[in-house]
Amino acid sequence: MKAIIIGGGIGGLSCAIALRKVGWEVTVFEQNESLTENGAGIVLAANAMRALESFDTAGRIREEGTPVRVAELRTWRGSLLARLPVEKQAVRYGTPSYLIHRGSLQSILYSRSLDLGVTVEHGKRFAELIDRHGGVEVRFADGTSANGELLVAADGYRSKIRDGLFGHTPLRYSGYRAIRGIGSFDDPRYPLAAGGGFEALGNGTRFGFSHLGGGRIFWFAAMNEAEGQGASLTPEERKKDALLKFRNWYSPVPAVIEATQPMDILTHSIYDLEPLRQWSKGRVTLLGDAAHPMLPNLGQGGAQAMEDAVVLADLLRIRPAGGALVEALQAYEKMRIQRVLNIVRQSRLMGRLMQLESPLALAIRNTALRVAADRLFISRLHPVVGYEPPKL
Ligand SMILES: Cc1cc2nc3c(=O)[nH]c(=O)nc-3n(C[C@H](O)[C@H](O)[C@H](O)COP(=O)(O)OP(=O)(O)OC[C@H]3O[C@@H](n4cnc5c(N)ncnc54)[C@H](O)[C@@H]3O)c2cc1C
Repeated sequence: MKAIIIGGGIGGLSCAIALRKVGWEVTVFEQNESLTENGAGIVLAANAMRALESFDTAGRIREEGTPVRVAELRTWRGSLLARLPVEKQAVRYGTPSYLIHRGSLQSILYSRSLDLGVTVEHGKRFAELIDRHGGVEVRFADGTSANGELLVAADGYRSKIRDGLFGHTPLRYSGYRAIRGIGSFDDPRYPLAAGGGFEALGNGTRFGFSHLGGGRIFWFAAMNEAEGQGASLTPEERKKDALLKFRNWYSPVPAVIEATQPMDILTHSIYDLEPLRQWSKGRVTLLGDAAHPMLPNLGQGGAQAMEDAVVLADLLRIRPAGGALVEALQAYEKMRIQRVLNIVRQSRLMGRLMQLESPLALAIRNTALRVAADRLFISRLHPVVGYEPPKL
């Protein structure tokens, strides 16, 4: 049984590994000419680590990433709001969360795919889907084509395949832009040995700092802004802009930005999508951001793509053909849609809470965080990070 996967990001490669592990022949078609190793830091919560165990890659994540052992919430002036009990969580879930460079994660998944015998073809931009009786055919922009029994669309949040299957639905702008940077920075208050870091909350603006592994640090900021603002900034302008916005913030915020090379600073407007009620049509299904773009406030987009991959492979373990394959895809979306919908909603809610602007709302939020951060974060997140995906 042959599966075609469009998109070689976290979702596509996770799906390739998972399907290969249950006996499918898999080819991934990726539009980029080579593996992309750029990007910033990504947090892998316990549910992501469990999926990565299934892919036999969790060991390498632990070697190349760094565990989150400190997670503080502070005001923009540095006053402590809460210290999240990450150690307690690590015991509860059998693993801490890990922070890793997105490029490292991507390359770990890529090399595992190749080890398992997945074929990855670069420079293949999906152009057209033809639903053939008993199979699917895809055509690429370079005029070539491929056939298989199953097509998994893992072509990201602006998925062309999703548009083709279900019609175009515009993305929803979150109301904020993210800036992310990677650099080297030492602060005795946040030593590498401890891992983790802090998130500081301002007025419609926040800044987070964390260790990334390999001696590097990762920072991110989110700022309420009109859509598209900041998109045309050069790397030098991005750095200047960030320094200006955070110049009066709690030390080490300005120093962390100062220590970052302009080329290592990325900026993006942030979007999600009104959740879809259907992901599959015939022998084609969506996975990862193609199915469910979400705001990054819970750090769950990549984790959910991995969970999708494990659940899909589990349901396709017996390599069903014909009508049974179509039914397996329907079972996949049935198992996944409600869970993901809740996470999309919670991510939006968390964003609203973290990006508040009114002084009164800020005061109430900060008081709530001082007295009940556990309830706001740990209990609410338990169904998300405590999830046990099937074993492959
Ligand atoms: C600021 C920010 C912070 C985040 N932080 C976290 C975090 O801490 N933890 C976490 O779990 N998640 C996080 N996420 C979410 C996570 O990055 C995404 O959910 C994840 O990358 C989705 O993977 P994907 O493979 O579905 O999509 P993508 O990573 O977008 O991959 C899609 C792939 O498809 C390819 N492609 C697109 N179109 C075509 C085509 N026509 N033909 C062929 N190939 C095509 C693209 O080149 C790309 O390689 C964050 C997201 C953002 C924006």
